[in-house]
Amino acid sequence: MKSVKDIEIKEGEKIFLRVDYNVPLKEGKVADDTRIKRTIPTLEYLLEKKPILILCSHLGRPKGKVVPELSLKPVAERLSEILGKQVNFSGEIIGENVINRISSLKPGDVLLLENIRFHPGETKDDEELAKNLKNLADTYVNDAFGACHRKHASVHSLPRFFDKKAAGFLLFEEIKNLKKVRENPERPAIAILGGAKIEDKAGIIEGLLEIMDKILVGGGMMFTFWKAMGKSTGKSLLTEDFIQKAKELIETGKIIVAEDALCAESLESKDAKNLSKIPENMAGYDIGENSIERFKKEIFSAKTIFWNGPMGVFENNNFKKGSMEIAKSIAEATEKGAFSLAGGGETVSAIKLAGVKEKFSYISTGGGASLEFMEKGTLPGIEALT
Ligand code: ADP
Ligand code: MG
Repeated sequence: MKSVKDIEIKEGEKIFLRVDYNVPLKEGKVADDTRIKRTIPTLEYLLEKKPILILCSHLGRPKGKVVPELSLKPVAERLSEILGKQVNFSGEIIGENVINRISSLKPGDVLLLENIRFHPGETKDDEELAKNLKNLADTYVNDAFGACHRKHASVHSLPRFFDKKAAGFLLFEEIKNLKKVRENPERPAIAILGGAKIEDKAGIIEGLLEIMDKILVGGGMMFTFWKAMGKSTGKSLLTEDFIQKAKELIETGKIIVAEDALCAESLESKDAKNLSKIPENMAGYDIGENSIERFKKEIFSAKTIFWNGPMGVFENNNFKKGSMEIAKSIAEATEKGAFSLAGGGETVSAIKLAGVKEKFSYISTGGGASLEFMEKGTLPGIEALT
């Protein structure tokens, strides 16, 4: 895989730069610009060579339709502030108008295309869309690590139409850090998994078991493991289809499931209880006190720590303790010499809430992408670049 530093860029050359500006919006403004800022080294490096820079990203899940609330316009405004230069915005993604618009740009100009997922072809990895996008540029650069696990047109079909293609600095940085965990991690190496998307994450646990010495399970996914152990889970999150798999995983002896949970009748309830069996009318919304202690012990004896998925519904003050304690403990272990890597939209929000983001060794901009890279050692978007 080539880096942007390995390719020669001429003044006025049209570069299609796929970025991951899938950022949270609030009242029509960018609420968290981390992902934008992480692409700035690549943007600044390229802009020094005075190309015409065409930026492309997705935002949310508009399902192939125009959803005005998911427009990238606020991103163009924020990017413009960060770069200190005008960022043009194109409401259209492909076609004559866009091509004409690009022809009217001058070397060093930047144009951000509208949310690529407004086009139904994006998530279908549609070749027609890819061909149309190809018509916009001479060179393809991918710096969208967070989207590289998707076989989508702008990351998968499209690069194959370009002879001249390369990876941006962020993509390289992500791969370098993930490889540090994946290949020859300092041991003991542990993974801490939580969050809500067990369907997405389940398949990955097996792959992770080959790398990690132990996997700690908390968050919404822990209850499927509880069910597999015959523990009652009340109305907690549950993925029925995964119970059998959870049984097999437990048998490996390398999975440590949170043993207790902070439970309540609802998220609004003020009297939450620490339980290891949950009655019908309650749900577990965070890991419990014993689990926090146990997890801390594992964290403090680990040399490599990979974290994906909050330990509970940390967005709610009553149920944030588990995630806060885990975040702070990983930060402390890092200060004492462990290598820590975290990924996942909500996981990173939890780490920020705990105020320890700067203390982690590396924060990945990709959730699903970092998990899949850990499992497979490559991603469709990376393959398409080589
Ligand atoms: P990430 O974005 O870090 O990859 P996910 O998207 O998988 O993580 O899940 C994050 C969400 O999981 C959080 O919004 C959190 O509220 C939720 N969650 C964590 N634990 C529980 C639980 N016990 N019950 C319900 N939701 C939970
Ligand atoms: Mg999430």
